[in-house]
Amino acid sequence: AKAKGRGAYQLFEPEMEEEARSRHALEQDLRGALEAREFHLVFQPQMRLDSSELTGFEALLRWKHPSRGFISPAEFIPIAEENGLIVPIGEWVLRSACATAVSWPDVTVAVNLSPVQFRSRGLVAMVTSALAEAGLPPRRLELEVTETALLDDSEATIEILHQLRALGIRVSLDDFGVGYSSLSYLRKFPFDRIKIDRSFVGTLGESPESVAIVRTIASLGSVLGVETTAEGVETEEQLDFVRECGCTAVQGYYFGKPCLASEVSRTIETLTTI
Ligand code: C2E
Ligand code: CA
Ligand code: CA
Ligand code: CA
Repeated sequence: AKAKGRGAYQLFEPEMEEEARSRHALEQDLRGALEAREFHLVFQPQMRLDSSELTGFEALLRWKHPSRGFISPAEFIPIAEENGLIVPIGEWVLRSACATAVSWPDVTVAVNLSPVQFRSRGLVAMVTSALAEAGLPPRRLELEVTETALLDDSEATIEILHQLRALGIRVSLDDFGVGYSSLSYLRKFPFDRIKIDRSFVGTLGESPESVAIVRTIASLGSVLGVETTAEGVETEEQLDFVRECGCTAVQGYYFGKPCLASEVSRTIETLTTI
C-alpha cells in the first residue's frame, strides 16, 4: 500500500489524525471530570438462580461529558487505564459505591477493579479505608477483576487476593471465557465467583460451542465450590438455558437494567416480590 503512494495515505491519514485528536481531547476532558463531578454510578441487580432472590447490585460508572453527553465506559476506561487516571477514578467509584450501599438492606455491592488499580500500591489499604469510612461490613462488598489483572507476577497477585479476602470481601473473576482465560487461574487464584462473559450467553440459542462452554464453566464452578454468574441474560429463554447449564446466578436486562441510586429501593421491591 505504501508503494502505491499517496492516494491510500490521503484517504487514511485524516481519519487517523481525527481519531488521535478526539482521543487526546477526551483525555484532557477526563482529567477534569472527577473534580467537575461529571461521574455517577448506576446499579444493576444480581440474582441468585435457585431461589430467584436478589443478592446485590453491580456498580457501573457513567460519565456525562458537558458537550458530548454520555460516553460509554468501554470508550473512556481504556484511556483512563493508559494514563493512570483510573486509579483516582476507581477510588472514587469504590468510595461512592460503599457509601451508597450502606443504606440498602442486607445485599452486596459489586465494584469493578481495573488491572491497573490491582497493580497500584496501597490497594488493600485503600479498600480497607473505603469500607471503614462508609461503615459498610466487608461481606457486603464484592470486587470484580478480569484475568488481565492476573497475567503477570502471580505471587504478588495471589497475595493481594488473599489479603482482600482476609478482610472478608468477596472477589469475582469477571468476563470469564474471553481473552486469556485459563482454567489454571481458577485453581491458582482464590475466587468466590466466576462471571461468564455475556458473549456466550447471547449466543446460547445458536451456538453449540457456547452451550458447551457455559456448561463446562458451570460444572467447574460447582466442583470448585465457586458461584457462577451468567452475564447478559436478556430473555426468558436464556434464563432457562443458563439455569439448565447449572449456573448459580444471573445478571442482565431480563431482571433489570442498571438504575440510578435513587431507584435502587424500588428495584429491590419489584425484584423481591417476583
Ligand atoms: P462489565 O464489568 O462486564 O459490566 C457489564 C456490562 O454489561 C455493563 O456495561 C452492563 O450495562 C452491560 N449489561 C448488563 N446486562 C446486559 C444485558 O442483558 N445485555 C447487554 N447487551 N448488556 C448488558 P457498561 O456499564 O457499559 O460497562 C462496560 C464495561 O466498562 C464493564 O463491563 C466494565 O468492564 C467497564 N466498567 C464499568 N464501570 C466500571 C468501573 O467503575 N471501573 C472499571 N474499572 N471498569 C468499569
Ligand atoms: Ca463487571
Ligand atoms: Ca463482565
Ligand atoms: Ca465485559
